Amino acid sequence: MVDHLDAIRDETGFVILFLIEKDFRNDPANKELGFFDYGDRIYQSWRQENPDQEKAIIFVLDLKERMLSYEVSPQIKEQWGDEIKNAMSDSFVAPIKRGDYAQALMDGSSMIRTRVLDPYNGSDPKSVLTEDLDTGLDATIPLFAINVVAHVLYHEAGHALIREFDLPVLANEEVMADSFATVWITQQQTDRAAQIVSDRVRSWLYEDSEVNPANYDFKGEHELDIRRAYQVACLFYGADPAKWTLDIAWLGFSESDLSDCSDTAPDQIEGWSAVLASHMRPDGDPSEKVEVIYGEGPLAEAMQATGILEIVATDLRRFDWPEPITLHFDHCDRGASWSRSERRILLCDDYVSRFIKQAETLSALPPK
Ligand SMILES: [Zn+2]
Repeated sequence: MVDHLDAIRDETGFVILFLIEKDFRNDPANKELGFFDYGDRIYQSWRQENPDQEKAIIFVLDLKERMLSYEVSPQIKEQWGDEIKNAMSDSFVAPIKRGDYAQALMDGSSMIRTRVLDPYNGSDPKSVLTEDLDTGLDATIPLFAINVVAHVLYHEAGHALIREFDLPVLANEEVMADSFATVWITQQQTDRAAQIVSDRVRSWLYEDSEVNPANYDFKGEHELDIRRAYQVACLFYGADPAKWTLDIAWLGFSESDLSDCSDTAPDQIEGWSAVLASHMRPDGDPSEKVEVIYGEGPLAEAMQATGILEIVATDLRRFDWPEPITLHFDHCDRGASWSRSERRILLCDDYVSRFIKQAETLSALPPK
């Protein structure tokens, strides 16, 4: 039922946002369970994980990330009633637009910390699909798909950097691109890293589960999906073992594997930082050579609303590109790619649809 739980730090303490099913009220199991009880239950589980946080406010949102109402438990109300009233200022009462929300999530550094609630039991989280709202005017893309697409875009950005800056290609470029994506996300999108990497890994593992091992392609340019999943998880963990131990616990790495990850990840992080250092622009002076383009198609508007291309573009503007490059989202069926001749990162909407479907499939799987 809970899609995810986000804790946003602001001057009043912590605001917990959690998403619930749009038809929460229609589920017989919830007939007697008000938002109030529901909020309380979520609050208690959050409190267990965060015993030292002093303050909490709970907002109940619908899956379109529009606020339905807010409720707090009696204890919170008693303790923090005035704070809550103050927090319910214009900025909080105003509808939260998904684009703004995604942007705030990805801005990362100080504002928001994201935790996925019980993300991999596959039972309850019901991601939103591209269903129309009652108004018929809107469509949204599940966070799972946005996260997978984020890693995909940074992977393509890795190819772009390697080619445009003539970086040495010292191993399979596909592996290097996964490495760049993961290193960048762990170093620059810290607060979102766990969720992006988890969802990318989960997507690869799912895709692997769809392939009969007898049909594994050992000879192609790409590593097997299952291998990519574990390599990326290992690099992610090794980037900050103290921070991300719990986030990869579900993958069952051995102690010895983890120790290897801790040894090798810093080498990759230093490697990227060494080769990219001379191509970065000074802080506060972004490149004007990175453009975002949206084509037509049923997902164009929803994709734009996620803000994910803009977030990647903002990161890419930190590099001193010799020639203009574009990030292009369009109605096509060619996955995602970096074109050297066009200097373009292309993301096709069929690829996004694939991850939207995966979100649906994964959320429907029985608990493990
Ligand atoms: Zn690639």
